Amino acid sequence: MNIIKKLSLEEAQKIAAGEVVERPANILKELIENSLDAGATKITIKLCDGGKTLLQVVDNGCGMSKEDAILSVQRYATSKITKLDDLQTLATYGFRGEALASICSVAMVEIVTQQHDALQGTALRFVDGNLESVKSIGFGVGTSITIHNLFDSIPARKKFLKTTATEWNQCSQLFKAYAAQKTAIHWILEHDGIILYNCPVVNSLVDRAAQLFDANLTSHIIPLEQTKSDGIIVEGFITQSTYGRYDRNTLYFFVNGRWVKNYQLATALLKGYGNMLPTGRYPAAVILLTIDPCDVDINVHPKKEEVLFLHPKRVFNLITDAVQKTFELNLSQKITTGRFPDLSYPDQTHNTFNFQPVLQEQVSGYSDYTQHEQIKSNELLLDVFKDFDEIKNITRQDVLPEKQQERALEEVQEFLITDNYSNLIGQFNKTYLLLEHQDGLLMIDQHAAHERILYERFLKNFDEVACVALLFPEIVSLPSDELALLMPWFMLLKQQGIEIECFSESSLIIRTTPVFFKNQSVRELLLEIVSWLKDYAALERQELFKRLTEKLRAQMACKAAVKAGDALSREQQEQLLHDLTQVNNRSTCPHGRPTSWIVPLYDIEKKFKRKI
Ligand code: ADP
Ligand code: MG
Repeated sequence: MNIIKKLSLEEAQKIAAGEVVERPANILKELIENSLDAGATKITIKLCDGGKTLLQVVDNGCGMSKEDAILSVQRYATSKITKLDDLQTLATYGFRGEALASICSVAMVEIVTQQHDALQGTALRFVDGNLESVKSIGFGVGTSITIHNLFDSIPARKKFLKTTATEWNQCSQLFKAYAAQKTAIHWILEHDGIILYNCPVVNSLVDRAAQLFDANLTSHIIPLEQTKSDGIIVEGFITQSTYGRYDRNTLYFFVNGRWVKNYQLATALLKGYGNMLPTGRYPAAVILLTIDPCDVDINVHPKKEEVLFLHPKRVFNLITDAVQKTFELNLSQKITTGRFPDLSYPDQTHNTFNFQPVLQEQVSGYSDYTQHEQIKSNELLLDVFKDFDEIKNITRQDVLPEKQQERALEEVQEFLITDNYSNLIGQFNKTYLLLEHQDGLLMIDQHAAHERILYERFLKNFDEVACVALLFPEIVSLPSDELALLMPWFMLLKQQGIEIECFSESSLIIRTTPVFFKNQSVRELLLEIVSWLKDYAALERQELFKRLTEKLRAQMACKAAVKAGDALSREQQEQLLHDLTQVNNRSTCPHGRPTSWIVPLYDIEKKFKRKI
């Protein structure tokens, strides 16, 4: 019996459509690129339900004739190349002629279009890939493409669509990427009937950034020193090292005007920062690379998001160099003009909390924050020079911290902190507790240790976190797509002592904070949660809930724990040690860093030539 059957063209198209069309953001990308290829100077995007029920792109580009409009939805129908060799000199985004065909096979699509010299336009309607109607109508020059109810006829595919918040977040991310770079285009983005971005034409990337990103990011922008080598040009902007995000989502790279996702490009950029950014913090950047089209391959993936370079090392090194050069110049300007970098990292202006005084004392902590907060001006000066040294030693330092960390982990001995320590020597460098131990000199990282203690406590009492009402509730502005991501988790946060409500389309209000959170910024924590939600977008809700709870516990423990640099009284040091002996998993902090390290007595004696 024959079991092999040839699929009908229609069925094959539906399957192949998955290559380019998985979610609204993929469709949006294809439509935006078509509008750019059509020479549009104004692009208006309207979405409903994250693009799931409605996704419309209207442009004022060249438009199509009736015949071309009918042809445009055929597979491999393109006006952009006629033979494969044309790819070498391609100046357009599209060339495969697949996008409209794929989109039409998975949704109801309306195309309205009119060319410059035409007296009338054409309106077409496609249902499941079939042309249902063609009408002549007056429209104005340009094209409008509307996608209704994505995947309604393909339930198997529809069930893979994520929540509205996630799909919307991906669409707005994509919108920002294109709008960030194409400054000569007027961009408008509307979601569920509300215009969220309206960005008229501007003259510079920095002005465009001000239309798209928050004021905190914009105030930290430094234009990148344009750098050239081997015919490659790097330009754009980055943010100062005093600005740090919790995710890489605001690192945008464009190769010959095409937005690309390439992890190594981001790594090269971060390498340029050396270790100026704390672990887990990322800058924002828009980087434009201009490179001979023969030296890049953008045809490696149907979605044209990946890119292959003929000489990847050259490209990556140039990016690293451009970032380093920018910092060196920026810093030397600061030193000569006497301006110091803003060390209030992260944005301390939002850090002032007004606790009710009685409760503040109930928190049993070890820290002395006032000392920690006072940064003297001579320390500032030292830091400027430290930054400068760091840039000079960038290659060495780039590899060092990770290696050091690995070694430190290897050296943690399974169980150091038991009753084996006999004498607390004291605090060293306001960061480590030094103890005499039967095997040598024991050092305990006060922050890592306190983090572990609090984490273990939260594990037991996570459902009953006591909170305090803020005397002056804090308003935090957040892009509406990020706010939408966060909203479903308000209840979880409330259980953890953080009560928040929406304040407007793009802001929320914090009413309470956990008791132990004194002087810590809930705002920073919320921004971090948003970044986790983006990272975990692919997870099922239950798994997401689990991960989020774990992360939240660890992060709360980290925020509430004493910091390196906090002076601890003798009593506080003893309390910390006592508490540490009481908890499980005490050899590492919840993030996996060691809490303690022992220098064996034998090694010390060998150094002093008492033993050989
Ligand atoms: P590609 O962009 O790879 O050529 P598409 O399926 O995206 O393939 O589009 C097919 C053709 O439809 C394009 O080559 C172009 O001629 C035409 N087209 C699509 N969108 C527009 C638009 N917004 N304005 C003018 N022409 C368009
Ligand atoms: Mg296209």
